[in-house]
Amino acid sequence: MTQRISHWIDGQPTSGNSGRTSPVYNPATGAQTGEVELASTEEVSAAVAKAKAAAKEWRHASLSKRSAVLFAFRELLHNHVDEIAEIITAEHGKTLPDAAGEVYRGLENVEFATGVPHLMKGGFSEQASTDLDVYSIRQPLGVVAGITPFNFPAMVPLWMCANAIACGNAFILKPSEKDPSASLKLAELWKEAGLPDGVFTVLQGDKEAVDAILTHEDIAAVSFVGSTPIARYIYETGTAQGKRVQALGGAKNHALVLPDADIDMAADAVVSAAYGAAGERCMALSVTVAVGDAADPLVDAIAARLPKLTIGAGTSPDTDMGPLITAAHREKVASYIGAGADAGAKVVVDGREADVPEDGFFLGTTLLDEVKPDMTVYTDEIFGPVLSVVRVDTYEEGLELINANPFANGTAIFTRDGGAARQFQFDVEVGMVGVNVPVPVPVAYYSFGGWKASLFGDNHMYGPEGVNFYTRGKVVTSRWPDPATSTIDLGFPRTR
Ligand code: NAD
Repeated sequence: MTQRISHWIDGQPTSGNSGRTSPVYNPATGAQTGEVELASTEEVSAAVAKAKAAAKEWRHASLSKRSAVLFAFRELLHNHVDEIAEIITAEHGKTLPDAAGEVYRGLENVEFATGVPHLMKGGFSEQASTDLDVYSIRQPLGVVAGITPFNFPAMVPLWMCANAIACGNAFILKPSEKDPSASLKLAELWKEAGLPDGVFTVLQGDKEAVDAILTHEDIAAVSFVGSTPIARYIYETGTAQGKRVQALGGAKNHALVLPDADIDMAADAVVSAAYGAAGERCMALSVTVAVGDAADPLVDAIAARLPKLTIGAGTSPDTDMGPLITAAHREKVASYIGAGADAGAKVVVDGREADVPEDGFFLGTTLLDEVKPDMTVYTDEIFGPVLSVVRVDTYEEGLELINANPFANGTAIFTRDGGAARQFQFDVEVGMVGVNVPVPVPVAYYSFGGWKASLFGDNHMYGPEGVNFYTRGKVVTSRWPDPATSTIDLGFPRTR
């Protein structure tokens, strides 16, 4: 029996009527467990109309009332971490602790948004001109939408909706059709927290729903996280429709390991960040750039760690690494290993030969050494448990390689030399940098986002830039003169 996964419109689960659905699998067994509705253009329009009506009311809710809903939502989310983690693991495959980790990181965005009275504060200049005051306010945009990827079915929606709703908007989520159920749990919790119906909507769907969102005149802004080709499409289509768009794309994150680094510590960090969530993270370290003498001991240390990783169902407490999201993705990732070998990379550990459970979409860990920048294993985002090692002679050569890459999401340097780390932070053309930190996802009061082909738009996601994205500024120039002093003056107003 497969479960029917529906939309959430106007505060309740709502069955679709498009007649189109998409299968949802448990990647650890390979079995289909669900069937998710795919919204039609008409269904999107109907849901936007509800959201528009809700947004009109919600912007009147005082900052304290909004903050109270956010606090209640935070508590509920906190109490349901394990339940949401189970939902994620059942459809995504990542381990339960990893799934709980993403909910906790999402929760931090809700905690940030509880401070909305402070976040929405404007400026005030008394006596900017004689007897005249100027002040700035920030107001919500109305209806905003978020389109999210499969790899963080709770955290990425929370990156968006917490700030969007706190700022007084109605938020429409279009989750990935591969693991759509976590979004419905978030919807239930928002309702229980006291959020008025229609302020948080879930529209399940595929390209048809996305295109309907991008072209709907009542949607003011679109946040997107996913692969680079789709991010570019979302940005170009949405902005051509006059919408505000932030579209985060794919990644190829490099670790730069200097010869003075503690090799065991660097190997632990690189293995954790390359193979965690089976490499299906936009902040995964998929390339290690080994400088000079670091290379041989580092490759040995990484290779020695890989057989110790347990690959299995994410629900098992012994599992370190779960399956990939679909059978097709597993085949694609596996094909890169062959392509790397054919192009001359040295296959130190071959994930295709690993002892993994037969059912489900499992692939072992792969380590490729002597990878060159023109090989597809280097140029493409593989999004699987494949780590490429590129050997360089100097720090400068490593830096040049990283800066030449079209992706620029995250990077990390491993060294014991503070001066070298600081130089790297200054020189590197990447949006998020770790110093001996392999997965430098910023805390919720900073903002998340890469550079170059990893982000289209002007605002990074969540934190202060998230608040900026979901609000627009208004500046009021005000005076309260004595009517008796009133005169006509056709000159351009000057301050005095
Ligand atoms: P994806 O681009 O395939 O899908 C993302 C969303 O876009 C989904 O909701 C999907 O339904 C929709 N979509 C897919 N194809 C579409 C099309 N042709 N037209 C309109 N909409 C479409 O990405 P994914 O496979 O779900 O997620 C993995 C990708 O996301 C990786 O590239 C990863 O690096 C990236 N990602 C980036 C970040 C970041 O912060 N930069 C974070 C997480 C994931």
